[in-house]
Amino acid sequence: MYDVIVIGAGPTGCTAAKILAENGFRVLIAEKFKLPRYKSCSGQLIQKTLNLVEQYFGESTPYCVTCNPAENRGMIFTNDKGKEYRFEQPGLNVWRSSFDEWLARKAKQFGAELRDETSVLYCKEENDTVTVTFNGKSVYTEQARFVVDCEGVVGALKRKLLNNAPNYITTFQTYNQGSIDLDYHYFYAYLQPNFSEYDAWFNVKDGHLVLGVSVKDTSKIYHYYQNFIAYMREHHRLHIEKQIKTDKWLMPHILPGCKIDYGVGRVLFAGEIAGFLNPMGEGISAGMESGYCAAQAIMQHFDNLEMVYSDYKEKAKPLHNYMKRQWNFVAKIADIFSEMELN
Ligand SMILES: Cc1cc2nc3c(=O)[nH]c(=O)nc-3n(C[C@H](O)[C@H](O)[C@H](O)COP(=O)(O)OP(=O)(O)OC[C@H]3O[C@@H](n4cnc5c(N)ncnc54)[C@H](O)[C@@H]3O)c2cc1C
Repeated sequence: MYDVIVIGAGPTGCTAAKILAENGFRVLIAEKFKLPRYKSCSGQLIQKTLNLVEQYFGESTPYCVTCNPAENRGMIFTNDKGKEYRFEQPGLNVWRSSFDEWLARKAKQFGAELRDETSVLYCKEENDTVTVTFNGKSVYTEQARFVVDCEGVVGALKRKLLNNAPNYITTFQTYNQGSIDLDYHYFYAYLQPNFSEYDAWFNVKDGHLVLGVSVKDTSKIYHYYQNFIAYMREHHRLHIEKQIKTDKWLMPHILPGCKIDYGVGRVLFAGEIAGFLNPMGEGISAGMESGYCAAQAIMQHFDNLEMVYSDYKEKAKPLHNYMKRQWNFVAKIADIFSEMELN
């Protein structure tokens, strides 16, 4: 019998597990893939994320999880009218596989039990206990008083529990050898409606030029991607010598008001699966902070489910308000996000 089973060893799950384990709770983290696992991500750790790593894990993000250039100096947004907004802020450029594996190792060091290559198939609640069905080397069950579901965007388990249809944005990015006249130390986001239905972006990882677009309608991906490449050729002397790889992923489609699903019964949601995500896909800090809030609420009200929820919501309120302010800001600078504007 565990106190808490955490689903998913991303930044959200590792934070929740570390905090609970360090405070004496018996915690199991189940991760579907073998670690280190691949996660499509630009891997930009903004200052807020770096601060949260120090605050929650007691040390700085190590250099060994970074890629070249390790230092990120900020973000440059170009809005739909071609106006540039520069946000200078020191950050790091990491490989998510290495960063997330490092977080998982930390959670383990603080006492969490980690099982990778282990999927959670289902959760069933009975008499203050959740029975979790796993698929690892075999199908088996474990029990816990709480589950923190941090399974990330796809949310197969959440869909089974809530029986609802998710709302996704599809991302597509390519890794290329070549050259461009942009500064490799910045993350560039483009909000012009002819490049994407959301945002298009450029950044560099270990010498690879990464170019991506995101859409609501997947049939339009290549059309937008071609428009974006043509623009980058014309305006930034993009020259692609060789395409190394492509990847497609999903992001939650955040709607006006930034609704959050906090959980169902003894299964709390945190991170992307709950709806915590900042504009332009900056979701690591939101994941970590929500994982921390969920863990704190469980720790403080272990025997009172109602209080766990009210406290989780209360603790996550500043994060939720921060998200709303950020989405409001992008709505003000680009028509493509105008639907997000709050009155
Ligand atoms: C193209 C792209 C670029 C991005 N760039 C950035 C960026 O630069 N900076 C930033 O801050 N954010 C970025 N994001 C967002 C960021 O990646 C996510 O918000 C963040 O990873 C969410 O963390 P999480 O822990 O909630 O979920 P995840 O990181 O997705 O972790 C969930 C984990 O759960 C596991 N899992 C899923 N289902 C199960 C199951 N049934 N059983 C067991 N395990 C399961 C998964 O394998 C995964 O390891 C980007 C997203 C995309 C798509």
